[in-house]
Amino acid sequence: MQRAIANPESLHWHSWAALAPGPSLLVLGAVHGNEVCGAHAVVRAIDDLTHGRLVLTRGRLTLVPVANPLAFRNNTREGERNLNRRFLPRGDPQDYEDRITRRLAPLLAQHDALLDLHSFHTPGDPFAMVGPRDNPGPREPFARAAEEMALARALGAQQVVEGWLEVYDRAALARGELPGDEGIGTNEYMRSQGGYAVTIECGQHEDPEAIEVAQQAIHGALAHLGLAHVPAPARFSGPAARLTEVVLRRSPRDRLARDWHSFDAVDAGDVIAWRADGTPVIAQREGCVLFPHPEADVGREWFYLAEADAAA
Ligand SMILES: [Zn+2]
Repeated sequence: MQRAIANPESLHWHSWAALAPGPSLLVLGAVHGNEVCGAHAVVRAIDDLTHGRLVLTRGRLTLVPVANPLAFRNNTREGERNLNRRFLPRGDPQDYEDRITRRLAPLLAQHDALLDLHSFHTPGDPFAMVGPRDNPGPREPFARAAEEMALARALGAQQVVEGWLEVYDRAALARGELPGDEGIGTNEYMRSQGGYAVTIECGQHEDPEAIEVAQQAIHGALAHLGLAHVPAPARFSGPAARLTEVVLRRSPRDRLARDWHSFDAVDAGDVIAWRADGTPVIAQREGCVLFPHPEADVGREWFYLAEADAAA
């Protein structure tokens, strides 16, 4: 099987341009270096396209197997810092990820849609993440939420989570910080350039099945956008989970009430966790728990709450 390799000195990507016009798709693997499923799935897709097993019939496709080669070589999340924060090109790069961003940002801006392939730390089912609803606001103005949601539903994951930056900003405020560039990752940058973006979390980092999930997501995106004739995974048709709240850990003696997993359902009044002084943290409404991190550092995100978004 083809495997991705990376040299920290350079980025590489492969582009195909069909003669028939159509939308343009960019796929990123290994924005986080230890999330290797996307890198290997992208290399497979490059091999399939190179050998004619997969044919681009319209539009453009760019495949970046390894977005952070230093982190990928080290099998770490970050090289010198998280590439998926402060993803803004600057003229005076200060670190490795700044230099990567300066190369990748123009590539993002040249495409309509971004598919960002990630994996996660704890066992769980794959899910896709989208951004805000359409809005004219100052923080993350957006007008392509419907296209973004349609792409997210086409990737094979049977869960979709919405509204990351808004809740991330709220967590910053809860820490006493002003929301700033820290919350701007590849997806937020893509939206700022007129495109739209979906992140898919394909499974646990080391799980070989995550590579299959990532490959299915690539095929799902190609089929959905009409770029290639490939079998599409089943569309997700349920309600999306809209992030409503982020809860920070305040003490090392704060503890979760259960061994929560992402998408575990909660009812209004359910105890989700206990503060060090015995105060319960209670769900205010029906929904689910997302991204629980039992041993989060004090002052950092402990878990998120979401509710079903019937409108999306
Ligand atoms: Zn990641």
